[in-house]
Amino acid sequence: MSETTDFAAAIRTIPDYPKPGIMFRDITTLLASPEAFRAAVDAMVAPYTDDGVALVAGIEARGFILGGAMSHQLSAGFVPIRKKGKLPLETIRVAYSLEYGVDEMEVHRDAVVPGSRVLLTDDLIATGGTAEAAVKLLRELGAEIVGACFVIDLPELGGRRRLEEMGVSVKTLVT
Ligand code: IMP
Repeated sequence: MSETTDFAAAIRTIPDYPKPGIMFRDITTLLASPEAFRAAVDAMVAPYTDDGVALVAGIEARGFILGGAMSHQLSAGFVPIRKKGKLPLETIRVAYSLEYGVDEMEVHRDAVVPGSRVLLTDDLIATGGTAEAAVKLLRELGAEIVGACFVIDLPELGGRRRLEEMGVSVKTLVT
């Protein structure tokens, strides 16, 4: 974790987006800051540099931005976990709950060599439903989940606990 970068200050909060009553945490300001983006990626990979991470798995879409940079930093590969219908070859799919309704995400069936050490990332963990679905997909492919890391944790929504109950350790930069 960077001692000099105030990650919370680099993120902005948009009230009533995408719906009235929701406070949307927007990391585009952090991504646009050369200093904050680098510091965030450095801080996110730091706990895992000696963990033999073979692949970083990023959740569409902000997890792609963070995960690509983290992969580079860790000299690991990158696996996209996508909304349904976007990947060109055979996939496995899982349904997960959103605030209103359900959605599905998928990953290429051949994306992970069984036994590979995989680090999961996204911008934010709220209820943990999205990350839980990603963990299920990766485990179905035989991945060993090294951990899951996010820029932002919304602890009152219980996502961290949900992942920890699945045996996945969670690290975040801002609570
Ligand atoms: P969860 O499944 O409830 O943990 O929600 C996390 C997913 O929703 C992640 O993919 C986030 O990118 C997205 N998300 C939920 N709330 C926010 C927010 O305030 N800002 C940015 N992304 C959010």
